[in-house]
Amino acid sequence: MTSTYDGQVALITGAARGQGRSHAVAFAERGADVVLCDRCEDSPAVGYPLATEPDLAETARLVAATGRRCISVRADTADRAAMDALVAQAHSEFGRIDIAVANAGVSVAAPVQSMSSGQWAEVIYSNLTGVFNTVGAVAGGMIERDYGRIVTISSMLGRAGNTNMAGYAASKWGVIGFTKSAALDLAGHGITVNAIAPGNISTPMIHNEALYSMMRPDLQSPTIDDVAPVFESLHAQPVPWLEAAEITRVVLFLTEPDNAHISGAVIPVDAGNAARVT
Ligand code: NAD
Repeated sequence: MTSTYDGQVALITGAARGQGRSHAVAFAERGADVVLCDRCEDSPAVGYPLATEPDLAETARLVAATGRRCISVRADTADRAAMDALVAQAHSEFGRIDIAVANAGVSVAAPVQSMSSGQWAEVIYSNLTGVFNTVGAVAGGMIERDYGRIVTISSMLGRAGNTNMAGYAASKWGVIGFTKSAALDLAGHGITVNAIAPGNISTPMIHNEALYSMMRPDLQSPTIDDVAPVFESLHAQPVPWLEAAEITRVVLFLTEPDNAHISGAVIPVDAGNAARVT
């Protein structure tokens, strides 16, 4: 039996855990060889732990368990040379990259009046420059083969603002402007470029002490039950968060070979919040 992505190669950034892991395993289960990267290092500007090398190894193990090949590298998407080296390794070992999911990102929470330059730089470099570096690194090979499917991950905060989120929202609005412009640049080369704008997704990015405390400043040690109603208020449908698999389903849709003429789109997966914003 043939699978949707037989013979194809998918690159996923920020793949050590969360949404990136979900996307990586889904591509492998459907026949793709997979190229993974993650920085696997905490940042002093980020108030929760980022992924670890064992997390990345676990994603690689899950991919390998499907029988597909996997390249797994510790790399920071903010480092263009590292992304170019990863793509060169993928071309050398697998011969191509057909799909790129620019998923890596961080959440930095601080009011604009006290946000440090370091916090601003972290969120812009990881979330926006990292997307440029990823797309910039894969575009040349895709143009040569006249084929590519690129998905960037924005946010519902790429369509709105929120308190403490000026840096994050600026980065995610930037991802949308970047995505639409890249879609036009690559339109003549068989390459689609689309963004997904998730709502609250149940990953370590939202389930951490720092964010819980920010959402419930009235409580000493807020629990998941304490913050659920606050998360829910950010959606229109009565659900506090969605599973990573809900984003993966849209990633798979946008990267199907037959979906050649959807490009420059922003698909919200945010439990109806899209109904409230432009
Ligand atoms: P996550 O924290 O579980 O995963 C993000 C991964 O990216 C981590 O493994 C982290 O180590 C890695 N990473 C961060 N900066 C990196 C860098 N510069 N280079 C390489 N790797 C890096 O969170 P997630 O929810 O899976 O996030 C995936 C994407 O979805 C992010 O772009 C995030 O902004 C976006 N998003 C998340 C939510 C949410 O509620 N979780 C909502 C909207 C958008």
